[in-house]
Parts: sequence; C-alpha cells; structure tokens
Amino acid sequence: MSNNLLLTPIEYLKGVGPNRGELLRKELGIHKYADLVNFFPNRYIDRTRYYKINELQNNGAEVQIIGKIINVKTVEFGKSQKRLVATFVDDTGQMELVWFQGHKWIKESLKLNEICVIFGKCTTFGNLFNMAHPEIEMMSEHKQSLRSAMQPVYPSTETLTNRGVSNKVINKMMQQLFLETQNLFIETLPDYLIDELKLISKKEALFNIHFPTSTDTLAKAKFRLIFEELFFIQLQLITKNLIQKHKIKGHPFTKVGEYFNDFYQNHLPFELTNAQKRVIKEIRTDMGSNAQMNRLLQGDVGSGKTIVAFMSMLLALDNGFQACLMAPTEILANQHFIGLSELAQTTNINIKILTGSTRIAQRRIIHEELENGTLDILIGTHALIEDKVKFKNLGLAVIDEQHRFGVEQRSKLWRKNTIPPHVLVMTATPIPRTLAMSLYGDLDISVIDELPPGRKPIQTVHRFDSNRLKVWKFLRDEIALGRQIYIVYPLIQESEKMDYKDLMDGYESISRDFSLPQYSISILHGKMKPLDKDAEMKRFSSGKTNIMVATTVIEVGVNVPNASVMIIESAERFGLSQLHQLRGRVGRGAEQSYCILMTSHKLSADSKTRMETMVRTNDGFEIAEVDLKLRGPGNLMGTQQSGVLNLQIADLVRDRDVLALARNYAMKLLREDPAMQKLEHSTLRAVYMEMTKKKNIWNYIS
Ligand code: ADP
Ligand code: MG
Repeated sequence: MSNNLLLTPIEYLKGVGPNRGELLRKELGIHKYADLVNFFPNRYIDRTRYYKINELQNNGAEVQIIGKIINVKTVEFGKSQKRLVATFVDDTGQMELVWFQGHKWIKESLKLNEICVIFGKCTTFGNLFNMAHPEIEMMSEHKQSLRSAMQPVYPSTETLTNRGVSNKVINKMMQQLFLETQNLFIETLPDYLIDELKLISKKEALFNIHFPTSTDTLAKAKFRLIFEELFFIQLQLITKNLIQKHKIKGHPFTKVGEYFNDFYQNHLPFELTNAQKRVIKEIRTDMGSNAQMNRLLQGDVGSGKTIVAFMSMLLALDNGFQACLMAPTEILANQHFIGLSELAQTTNINIKILTGSTRIAQRRIIHEELENGTLDILIGTHALIEDKVKFKNLGLAVIDEQHRFGVEQRSKLWRKNTIPPHVLVMTATPIPRTLAMSLYGDLDISVIDELPPGRKPIQTVHRFDSNRLKVWKFLRDEIALGRQIYIVYPLIQESEKMDYKDLMDGYESISRDFSLPQYSISILHGKMKPLDKDAEMKRFSSGKTNIMVATTVIEVGVNVPNASVMIIESAERFGLSQLHQLRGRVGRGAEQSYCILMTSHKLSADSKTRMETMVRTNDGFEIAEVDLKLRGPGNLMGTQQSGVLNLQIADLVRDRDVLALARNYAMKLLREDPAMQKLEHSTLRAVYMEMTKKKNIWNYIS
C-alpha cells in the first residue's frame, strides 16, 4: 500500500519543487502527498462548454473562451500603480485580459497570436468585457487534459494566484499525484459500516472527489467523505468525554457549608427562578463528585447567570478553596467585581479585582494574598492568566462570555493546578443544541431558560433613517419618564476609521438635538482610557446622564436597569448574535423596554432576515438557529476561535443529518468496543491514533 509514499514531502511531487512546495505549505497547509489528496475542491464547474465573446453577459459567471492574445501592454493608473492589459480576440469580437499583480511572471509566460483557451470571471469595464487574472492554456495543452462537466475548483489564496499556482496547476498536481500513487489508498472505515451504509470505498471516493465522472459518483464520494470526517470527529469527542468522565480527577466539594447556607437562607436579594435553582443543583452535584466539572452555562442575557456563578463560588469557599472569575473586558470585570462584592457584602469574603490597569502595589498585595490563601475570590481580565498569578488552591474557575477567550488562554488557566479546578463557562450566546452537542460533546451543558419574573419582553421595531425625527421624539418622551437610552454605533475593525467618524458625527448631532442643560450625554468607545471609560460608565449608571452613545464595547454584560431604550445605528451591519447581545442591555428593570433597529433603505436579503428575526422574537435560541442558517457555523460567535470548525469537507449546518448519523454510529461503536481493539477496527484505530496525535484540537475546552 502507499502509506509511506503518502508521507513524501510535497515538493518531491513532479511539477512542484521547493518553491511551490513552500507556497503550498504556507498557504494551504499542504506538507505531504497525503495532505494534497485530502485537499478537496469546494465546487465544480462545467468545462465542456465554450463561450464566444459576443455571447458574454455581465453577470460575473466563469466562462471559457477560445481565441488568441494579440497584444500586451503595461498601463499605469493612479500614482504608482500598474496593470498588465492584453487584448484577446475570437471571431466574434475582442476583450481585455487584466493583471494587477505578478506582471513580470505573467508577461514572460504569455504567447502572442497562438490559439489558447482562457478561463475566468467576466465583467465589463466601459464597453469592453474583461477578465482579471484569467487562467490560460495553449490549445495543444488544453486538448490533452481531461475535460468534464464537473471540473474541480480548489480553494485558493491571493498569494497562490499571484505566484502562478492557479487552479489549473493544482489540478495538474492532483493528476500527477494520482499517477504516482496509483490510487492505492487504504480503506479507513470498517467493512461492516461500508456495507451497512452502502458507502463507496475510500479510494473510489478520493478519485471521484477530484475527478468526478458523473454527478452520481460525485454525490457518493462526497457522502462517504463527509460521513468519514464527522465520524472521526465524533469518535474523538465521545472518547474524550468518556476519558474525562472517568479519569480526570477533580476536587470533590463534599460540603455545603456556612457561606452557601447563610447566603441562601438569609441574604438572597431575590427569589431564585426555578431554572436558576435547577442549574445550581446541577453544578453542586457535579462539583460534589470526584470528577472535574466542565460545564457550559447557557442563559440568555439577563437570565441571571451572575448569582449562579456567585453561589457556585460559595461552594468552593465552603470547601476551603479559592475561586476566580475571568471576564473578557475591563468594563465587564469591573461590573462583576461590583456585583459580586454587593452580593458578598454581608460576608467576610475577601474579593479583589485584577486587570491590566491594576497598580503595581495593589498587584503585589493580590499576588501575596492569592498565594497565602487569604484572597478568596479573584475577578479579572486576561491578567488572571499571567504566569505571575498563582493561586494557593484554585477550586473553581468561572469564565464569562467564553467566546472572547482563545483556546490557549483557557488551557493556561487549567495548568495552574495539579488537580484542575472545576470550570464553569458562562455564555449568553446560545449555541443551537445540535451544534453544541457536536462541538462541545465533552462539556456538560446547563441552560437557564427562564427570565426572572416581572420582566416585560422587550419590544423591538425596525425603523429607517428617514424616520429619525419620530424616533427622537420617542426618546424625549422616554427621558421625560425618567428612563435612559443607549445609542450604539457599529465598530468593525476593517473600517475602524470610518466607524469612529460615524460615532463622533453621531455624538455631535445627538448633542445638538439633546442639548444641555436639559439633557446630558455620555460617550464610550474602545479608544478611551480605562479610567475615562469607567467614569463615563459611572455617570450613566448613576443616572447623571440620559443618553449613552457608544460602540459595541457595551455589548456584553453592562447592567443599567434604568436604561430602557436601545437604539442600534446601522443595524444592518451587525450580526444577529451581536444584535441580540446589544438588545439584552435593556429590559433589565421593571419598565417596558424598547429596541429600535435603525437602517438605511438599502438592505440585502440577509439583512432583512436579520431585522425581521429580531423584531419577531426575543428567544436567543431561535435567533441562534437563524444565525446558523444565514452564516454557517464557522462564523458563529463562540465557535470562531475554536478551530474545531476547520473541517475539510463537511459543513455542520448543511450536513446536520450526516452528523447525527455519524454520531450514532460512533456511539454504537464505542459502546461495543471502547478502545477500538477488535480486529475489524484495527485500521480505524490506527487512523484515529494518527489523527489525535496530529490535531489535539479538543484540549482547549478543558
Ligand atoms: P446575565 O445572565 O445576563 O449575566 P445577570 O446575572 O446580570 O444576567 O442578571 C440580570 C439582572 O437580573 C440583574 O440585575 C440581577 O440582579 C437580576 N436577577 C437575576 N436573577 C434574578 C431573580 N431570580 N429574580 C429577580 N431578579 C434577578
Ligand atoms: Mg452577565
């Protein structure tokens, strides 16, 4: 078999060489033959059809045309920019081929007045059609290559295209690879699975995914490979879950002691909702066992996760351990510090906060108290995971809004003890259950699915910029009733400068419309110094200002119950989960709250769906499902950094059914043969071991 051959470094493949080898490694992560085989097309195009120039339409479609290049010139534009332009003709007309980069390399390779085939996307510029960075093949060459109605198109990068590694080149590499390896790919799934699910063999699948002969075989190839990918992921997740459940020891919090009982009996600021009670019980049971807790606490914004975290911490203290809470921003850490200190005011618990702006003297005290164990609860930002921060005996780590923390950061916290602390991850970004299961198969999940009583559901409306006068009138009315207002502007990194301008313009015009002495306005954005941010936040939360103009820095966690209106400017530029988070800043008090989504009249179909969804529902889970459908899981908040979704061929949304199938089969297999030791699983096991060795991607959750 060709296993060893498949480990050959990619530069040894005929036609690759050291330069392209380097590019493939850097740009696509293709190191070996095996990586190239598993580099799958993301779509297929019809290369049996040829167009004439007079048939072209300005629709951005990819077309191939037979003709010849009759001249090439370099054209300057702008200050120091150049492009390479070639005139291409066939018997029906002429068009231009354009290159913005790689001039030298391309100019040398172009042959004038010889029949060739060009391929690419057409657009019009003036009254001429043009094709930017076309693929070009001489007719003689073109005749030799296989053409089918399903020509694979591989994912690419700009660098690759500019350096001449076009789709055509990748196709050729693939042909060469199959020539050298003779398609001797071993079967990775057990025979009984192949029979039962009527899968095609691994080698058929690999061949057909790269060189499909019919739509039918292509579909079979895809199914087989998608199933396989999801199946191995599920094997990993489920195994990890089993190992964790059985092997990772945790500190058993056997006692429910004075701290917890006293608080529960005498100092609860409100009656807990049933959901809160249930979740606290789940956490108690978990931490009371011998295994380490890894729990994801999902609860919509305002559902009351903070008190759950606090009471969990009390359990840690009752058992002689310390606890910490990590928040993604300084503002949030501060709010938690204030909130938890308030909850703890009747106790002698020592709570401190550590952030980037904590002074050195205070830091020293914190380090000392942490190490000698007199500090009970530490709240903070990323500063918590610096190496200098050492706990005497950390028993519980609570992580708020986990999507802001990267993979490494979480495992760093983990490394602080020999016996790991229990981990409670709190998120208001509801990940749809189906997805949560497959992503966080090794996390237990608790859900607070009930809001504290007395809350009136937030009313959401969508208004166009042209309605602004009416909206402003509404704000005046609300302010007259004593309420406070948020006005949020988008801040997207790519257009940061423009966004700040929008924010500042907005602030100015709002200041004019709501002027002193009758009204006062706060402003909050990421470029402000922490102290100034704090001061502004305080002015608003203490009711000194009526309106808070802000960027998305207020997205998570900010809690001002008297604020009852949330205006989101350019709402079409926000994603659904972000809109939902922002809306969650209001509706925290007893008053009726409102969310007004302001947009321009020009809306894409997706933006319309987002606005409609927001207006229709307050249910975070429903919103997450829509978000998932609109954006695909790779873009969902909370999963972006996970790296888990770096799937080769499967798509967790599109292939949900296959995912369920794969999960069932994986569970069945592991139930019957947990260590994959049966003879029929020997190859499976080998592949599995190889895979877990290579990508230990699941560690991060812990
Ligand atoms: P989130 O889940 O968004 O972090 P918080 O913990 O900040 O929510 O709680 C939101 C608000 O609801 C806070 O003002 C909190 O005091 C209040 N709250 C939480 N639980 C209850 C409850 N059971 N009854 C009444 N108010 C509650
Ligand atoms: Mg919160």
